Amino acid sequence: MNGHSLNKTLSNLNLGGLRYFDSIGSTNDEALAWAAGDAKDLSLVIADEQTQGRGRLNRKWFTPKGSAIAFSLILRPSAPLRPHLTRTVGLAALSIADSCLKHGLAARIKWPNDILLNGKKTAGILIEMVWSGADVEALVIGVGINVHKTAVPPAEVLQFPATSIEHELGREPPECEGILFDILSAFLSWREHMCTDKLINAWEELLAFRGKQVQVCAGGRAPVIGELLGLESDGSLRLRNAHDESVIIRFGDVSLRPTA
Ligand code: ADP
Repeated sequence: MNGHSLNKTLSNLNLGGLRYFDSIGSTNDEALAWAAGDAKDLSLVIADEQTQGRGRLNRKWFTPKGSAIAFSLILRPSAPLRPHLTRTVGLAALSIADSCLKHGLAARIKWPNDILLNGKKTAGILIEMVWSGADVEALVIGVGINVHKTAVPPAEVLQFPATSIEHELGREPPECEGILFDILSAFLSWREHMCTDKLINAWEELLAFRGKQVQVCAGGRAPVIGELLGLESDGSLRLRNAHDESVIIRFGDVSLRPTA
């Protein structure tokens, strides 16, 4: 990957701007700073290596050189999209899942922010915001995808098993640039459906552990255990607990696991 060929590959997508780095601390940090300044809608920061990549709560996200895709896409939401911003993580997850399907890989979405192949984490999404008073001025969608086997961190640093596109395909993976193009194209198509049930329904279809017992842990509270039923229209998760009651889990620092 390099800036010149990326510009060429992505030219048809009409991005707002493009900044490519061989190595960077975190693409989200760069994108947040750009978004707080003059970045246009659909500006993209991409790097071949992240030395300070992060997941939620500053957990580390590994992006070793030449092995993964790490990008951050800046969105400036239009007025009609504003009531639906909690759907953004689903929009990103669906776009990644679509790009996997192009290569015969059936991805599942581990709510709220991870993409699984064969039950293992292959990609993660981190959404951060730039505020202007009480309004969201911009969203930054950070994405990390393990393309080559060498992107997968050692098991001892993982709380959830991980894999890569290369491992799941069992052969040399497609070029990172091509995968990125597919994700961004899917993103632009899905964004047209941001305000409709189509997006929520497609997202729900791809939820990992649907119909299974899961536990959801949130911020030191006792875990919620129940059958994973589906999504609310804002993208919140719906479970059925042991008392046959519906329990809605909103976004935040939650982590979902199968119980068995
Ligand atoms: P989760 O959604 O599982 O709570 P985060 O979104 O916070 O996780 O992502 C950070 C976590 O992901 C790290 O603590 C680490 O366990 C795991 N991780 C870090 N880098 C990778 C990677 N390249 N592939 C898969 N998992 C990773």
